Amino acid sequence: MSQELHALFSQLELSLPFVKPSSTTLACEDPSSGAVVGHLAQDDKPSTLVKIDAAARSFAALREVPAPVRGAIVRAMGERLREHKQALAQLVCAEVGKGIEEARGEVQEMIDICDYAVGLSRMIGGKTLPSERPDHRMFEQWLPLGPVLCISAFNFPVAVWSWNAAIALICGDPVIWKPSLHAPLSAIAVHGLLQPLLASAGHGDAMQLVIGPDDTVAKTLVDDVRVPLVSATGSCAMGRAVAPRVAARLGRTLLELGGNNAVIVDATADLELAVRAVAFGAAGTAGQRCTTTRRLFVERSIAAALTDKLVAAYAQLSERVGDPRDAGNLIGPLIDASAVGRFSAMVAHAKRLGATVLAGGSSIHDGELGAGHYVLPTLIRVPDSLDLDADFAPMQTETFAPILYLRSFPNGDLARAISWQNSVEQGLSSALFSDSSRAIERFWSPAGSDCGIANVNIGTSGAEIGGAFGGEKATGGGREAGSDAWKAYMRRQTCTINGGETLPLAQGISWSST
Ligand code: NAD
Repeated sequence: MSQELHALFSQLELSLPFVKPSSTTLACEDPSSGAVVGHLAQDDKPSTLVKIDAAARSFAALREVPAPVRGAIVRAMGERLREHKQALAQLVCAEVGKGIEEARGEVQEMIDICDYAVGLSRMIGGKTLPSERPDHRMFEQWLPLGPVLCISAFNFPVAVWSWNAAIALICGDPVIWKPSLHAPLSAIAVHGLLQPLLASAGHGDAMQLVIGPDDTVAKTLVDDVRVPLVSATGSCAMGRAVAPRVAARLGRTLLELGGNNAVIVDATADLELAVRAVAFGAAGTAGQRCTTTRRLFVERSIAAALTDKLVAAYAQLSERVGDPRDAGNLIGPLIDASAVGRFSAMVAHAKRLGATVLAGGSSIHDGELGAGHYVLPTLIRVPDSLDLDADFAPMQTETFAPILYLRSFPNGDLARAISWQNSVEQGLSSALFSDSSRAIERFWSPAGSDCGIANVNIGTSGAEIGGAFGGEKATGGGREAGSDAWKAYMRRQTCTINGGETLPLAQGISWSST
């Protein structure tokens, strides 16, 4: 693996920054083999403060650059990513164990958001609003905000940063990146590829990379008043730690936290479509997507037929678990040994509560896959006799692994399925498979899905960058990427000018000392 990394870094025209191990270095583990492949130097509090300072100083110049000119820099970033898509995808695949095809998709998403941001750089604009006063003009303008801290999760080690960075940069904000300690190499490579483009435009300090522990380095970043926006992607636990700290200094957060996503399949649905979408949604990226399908509610009259099809699909999928570099494999390893431990503990817990494992259920320890962190895609049927709210806690938990719980709902009772779907603390993604327009409208009604994403006849995962991405409730309420998500990265100013010769007051107030 070390040789592979050297080769990938040299294809990217960078050098692999491994150092001698010490008490302060970070060990990088290969999830496909479980082996430590090298060590990296980490930031500490003083070096973090230096980087924040540099980003804050760079803001003074970047905010003055016209947005379309900032867009031209982001266009060059997109071109650079296009040139290096394959090597970068291979690096993501090797570092976090994501299948090579999905890793290519992740880099493509970076390219797409750059393209999107370039267009946006000519479109971010405010409204002109009618003033109630004669000869007055009132309008809004959107101005750069300041350095944005992007905390990213391991499972989308580069795409989520790019959603933030491409938009923040065209908005005139420097970006400070605190990547997951499971994915520092992908971050180093992206930074090494793209930061020189900003540097050659005279704004090199507007892109900072900070690698280090949460309790020192991340905390220093989160608490710094020079960082007006903290965009944090990760678990709900992380959000619960970060949000109050930023709130205490009255900063802004954009939170993209955990998901516990459900698919509902009613009796009118196209079952072939549903099975394909559910299998990809539940087992793709080894169940390590925020939008992974974790719960499946099926109308009782079709439950047996759908279950049979899913069991057959899972049998095929379990043959395709293995080295993520091999495009023939669809499911790579989990990120580390503790993720495998959480998977095994949750399967055991579900069984103790009376659920039945219909497929998978175990980790893989055979010679070929060695000590890699592989588990089988797992399908668990929850009996109709169990009260989901009171008796079956596993369904309330986002276990970051390929476990799908299947439960039938009474015929004709879509409302029950929707209420089960909404009964978890998170509110990220949801999907309904149905050919009934009445059911679809119900799913989209105010009494329907409470999630940020509500799909019909499409699974829960695999969003496009053109839409605003994010979720409600404990998912944090943030929106990133498309639509008007850019507004989070700017400050709004309401401006009114009086072009007349008198000073009429709003609300018709008469107030004069003469
Ligand atoms: P994690 O919460 O362990 O870590 C995410 C990031 O937060 C890492 O960079 C980590 O170092 C940092 N972090 C953790 N605790 C922190 C603290 N107290 N202060 C500052 N920084 C801290 O999550 P993970 O295991 O890397 O990723 C999986 C989780 O992320 C899942 O819950 C998944 O649903 C979620 N996720 C959400 C989205 C989304 O868009 N909603 C996208 C990807 C992942």
